[in-house]
Amino acid sequence: MDNLQLANLLFPEIDKTPEYYENKYPPRSLPEGARVTRFAPSPTGFLHLGGLFAATVAAKTAHASNGIFYLRIEDTDKKREVEGGIGGIIDGLAYFGVVPDEGRISQSEDKGDYGPYRQSERREIYQTFAKALVENGLAYPCFCSEEDLAELRAAQENEPVKGYHGKWAKCRTLGLEQIQENLAAGKPWTLRLRSQGDPEKKIIIDDFIRGKIEMPANVADIVLLKQDGIPTYHFAHCVDDHLMRSTHIVRGDEWIASVPVHIELFKACGFKVPKYAHIAPIMKEECDESGNVIGKRKLSKRKDPEASVSFYAQAGYPAESVNEYLLTLANSNFEDWRRANPDAPQEAFPFNLKKMSASGALFDLAKLNDVSKNVICRFSAQKVYENVLAWAKEQDSAFYELLAADADFAVQMFAIDRGGKKPRKDIAKWSEVKDYYAYFFRDLYENDFALPENVSREDAAAIVRAYKEVYSAADDKDAWFARIKELCAPLGFTPNVKEYKKAPDAFKGHVGDVSGIIRIAVTGRRNTPDLCAILALLGEEEVNRRLEAFLEKMN
Ligand code: GLU
Repeated sequence: MDNLQLANLLFPEIDKTPEYYENKYPPRSLPEGARVTRFAPSPTGFLHLGGLFAATVAAKTAHASNGIFYLRIEDTDKKREVEGGIGGIIDGLAYFGVVPDEGRISQSEDKGDYGPYRQSERREIYQTFAKALVENGLAYPCFCSEEDLAELRAAQENEPVKGYHGKWAKCRTLGLEQIQENLAAGKPWTLRLRSQGDPEKKIIIDDFIRGKIEMPANVADIVLLKQDGIPTYHFAHCVDDHLMRSTHIVRGDEWIASVPVHIELFKACGFKVPKYAHIAPIMKEECDESGNVIGKRKLSKRKDPEASVSFYAQAGYPAESVNEYLLTLANSNFEDWRRANPDAPQEAFPFNLKKMSASGALFDLAKLNDVSKNVICRFSAQKVYENVLAWAKEQDSAFYELLAADADFAVQMFAIDRGGKKPRKDIAKWSEVKDYYAYFFRDLYENDFALPENVSREDAAAIVRAYKEVYSAADDKDAWFARIKELCAPLGFTPNVKEYKKAPDAFKGHVGDVSGIIRIAVTGRRNTPDLCAILALLGEEEVNRRLEAFLEKMN
């Protein structure tokens, strides 16, 4: 059969050749060893943690080698597309600071010379390469209907190798005349690969994460173009990764089973086969009703709220925290590196694909909280303020009003116990801030004054009465603490904790109990950051007001 004739028959409108596109999208001039990676989501919904993880890994891989990371939208399946899906992905990535060097940057705009970066805008390109495959005898039209294919599946029930291949591939041997007749009759057709795969052969891929994997070679004549002329994912991604000059395919390991097909496609098109890194899914411990761990499963979009990235924005985890946590999941040596380099930016970490877990890292919210506390404790007060303000604007308008009303006050509040060698690590997410700092705001402060068991109401009142006498707003920390110590003995407490421990029966308590009561009187809490700083920020009038209110309650 004359392949050229068939190609022209099937694609009369295609006048370009693969060479045209090879010239239009030449190999990139990048430094030796630079990797080109991509994130290639389908716009089927909003960004999920697994997607963010894959994008992060792909971006780190590219940037650790001075390469390029780009975003490609794979929208060949229009049925699954969701309105606003592209914007959701781009905004989601941007929130976490994953900004592609090139690719789709908005619903309709591209950045970079290898576009368009949205598959639905590349129809002519795919058809050109499909036409060339027909010319080379490596693809043919298939007129099988849905019913034909259902019959084939039924007949293959006991076959070891299923699919459209070998003797099952009815249309593989159609002659030009028959094809012409079918086309003239208006029969719909798909374009199939004429697989050259040998059923006896195995292929070996050397995956960066999974190591060597051996699989049977592909033998199926898979569909390249659907009846509407739109390519399948398999064919489209192969053309795109070649023309966009991807060097490393970093993606979820649900695609491993398709690699034999992909390798055959790359080779059939005359493309160099890229390198692969298949990422294991993020896992989660599964618990029974009483909370006992009974196994592991994939983090699930349906079951786990934390699988969706909007969860983190709503709870107010700063992007830095989520990124830091994803790095702990991605590279097992990240935490050691972080301990050795507490102040280094995340970009300085030497990310290594080979250090990724092949079995799937375990997601743990408690761990995320720890990581996040460590991240947030290094933020400046100003940065905390800006972040909390932005979060509250979206999630808690009453709190937003309070914070916005007096920015100086709020920044000073966040500055307490911040900075220095041992900053306080109390806040994991912005949604905790309102409760944590509530006593700074008259509107939020609740004075229910639950006293510790070891101090009576009378003693508590006596402590506060005595303190009220000596309280001076001008005291610095040393002067303030000296005053508290002086209060102790007359009230039956000791300023010396050691002394108390030696003879607990000789005293009502020690200096910590005394300052603890003052803390409760002023803040309503047993535990707060530096009390002296709190007193200074609240100011004389408010402190006196609270001490009086406390005394009233104790009477
Ligand atoms: N569009 C595919 C997906 O949604 C991308 C697979 C790939 O990265 O090659 O998962």
